[in-house]
Amino acid sequence: MTKLRLAIIGAGPAGIYTADNLLKAERKFDVSIDLFDRLPAPYGLVRYGVAPDHPRIKGIITALRDTLDRGDIRVFGNVEFGVDLTLDDLREHYNAVVFATGSSRDAPLAVPGIDAEGSYGAAEFVSWYDGHPDVPRDWPLQQSTSVAVIGNGNVALDVARMLAKHVEDLLPTEIPQNVHDGLAASQITDVHIFGRRGPTQVKFTPLELRELGELRDVDMVLYDEDFDYDEAQRAAVASNKQVMVIDRILQSWRNRVVETPASRRLHLHFFAKPVEVRTDAAGRVSSFVYERTAPDGQGGVVGTGELREVPVQGLYRAIGYFGSPLPGVPFDKRHGVVPNREGRVLHKDSNEYVPGLYVTGWVKRGPVGLIGHTKSDAMETVRNLINDQAFWWQPSHPEETAIPALLRSRGVPWTDLEGWHRLDAHEIALGEPHERARIKVVPRDEMVRISRAE
Ligand code: NAP
Repeated sequence: MTKLRLAIIGAGPAGIYTADNLLKAERKFDVSIDLFDRLPAPYGLVRYGVAPDHPRIKGIITALRDTLDRGDIRVFGNVEFGVDLTLDDLREHYNAVVFATGSSRDAPLAVPGIDAEGSYGAAEFVSWYDGHPDVPRDWPLQQSTSVAVIGNGNVALDVARMLAKHVEDLLPTEIPQNVHDGLAASQITDVHIFGRRGPTQVKFTPLELRELGELRDVDMVLYDEDFDYDEAQRAAVASNKQVMVIDRILQSWRNRVVETPASRRLHLHFFAKPVEVRTDAAGRVSSFVYERTAPDGQGGVVGTGELREVPVQGLYRAIGYFGSPLPGVPFDKRHGVVPNREGRVLHKDSNEYVPGLYVTGWVKRGPVGLIGHTKSDAMETVRNLINDQAFWWQPSHPEETAIPALLRSRGVPWTDLEGWHRLDAHEIALGEPHERARIKVVPRDEMVRISRAE
């Protein structure tokens, strides 16, 4: 019986669902899977992207862990593709590779001043509050009282909620100590969220929106001028259930009677297209300038030419994620994805398949959709991988001992599944005295040391 030796790069949901799908699929060959991640711990965006106060989504980890614990997937953490292991290495050791590396960079926003001090990409801030080992430990929240969040997607809401929430209300979560301390020092009183279109054209979802209104000691501030709906907006509310629910939530906040004003406010500004980030003499963000847009009568918006300026000392753009190129693998720079047809990687300029290379998840389809969508995505990629048996690589060293030997020869301190269990238990134990589910370990060397029991 033939054996498929498969490398999966990326141990987030996309990579783990791929392994799970393949192991459960009907096929005429044996499978042996090696799962690589550049981080010492698995679960990708569930561990390092989902907000700490979203335990329901974090709970996906339980299912992902069950897959890893099946015992037939080898995990190699702390191994960076392109640095510790190249595409040539993979060709020598495997029949094929699936890239499931996601999109972890921030999409660029081309307005003057966007690179000023105090202007951040949402992904950077998310990585910080989720204890990602590769971002600085400190976040300067003590320098701002008002901040802007650009974008009307769920990431914008996560960022705005984390900025507005009182740190005591995050205590039951797994936030690391440095994040707790950073948030505790925050001087922020006003978080302004700016959407370039109207309330009926947002990308965030009702559940996530509703949560903002439930934050303790935070008032929701909406502006009447944004709710003068035209015919197209009224039609959107009437015809789309999600838009209807979102509108209902927003209207309920407009009608809310505030008896005792809260100490913090979350402002929702619609019809606000980014124009410029202004700075003070020291080059720090001092205000956000936007152009007021207006409904175009067909469900879109047009610029009005009216510029407005809001003083802020910090700015977070949450306008979408973007994939990173993988050394030796075709990359579509415009869309931030690997060019592919149903998961089979394509040469950049020809539309021809590159044998042996596959993609799944956000690096395949772009950074849209919820984690659940990644499952069907993986299924499609796996189906094509199985059907392509005739085109797989013929590795010269398919034996399973070859990869650990190679990594050892290069001095790569990789972490394995047993190591993850060790780190997992360590984090849970750190949380126990404080009655918290876990406290994350942040520094990479400490994660590696604990995993490797060194
Ligand atoms: P997103 O849903 O695509 O939202 C991006 C937002 O940025 C949109 O409002 C978009 O406006 C705006 N935008 C884009 N370019 C802009 C520009 N040049 N100027 C001003 N605004 C601009 O992306 P995301 O928020 O990064 O979320 C990514 C995916 O992860 C989504 O599927 C999301 O639902 C998911 N996610 C889910 C959760 C959750 O379930 N709790 C949490 C986080 C993320 P336009 O609509 O006008 O383009």
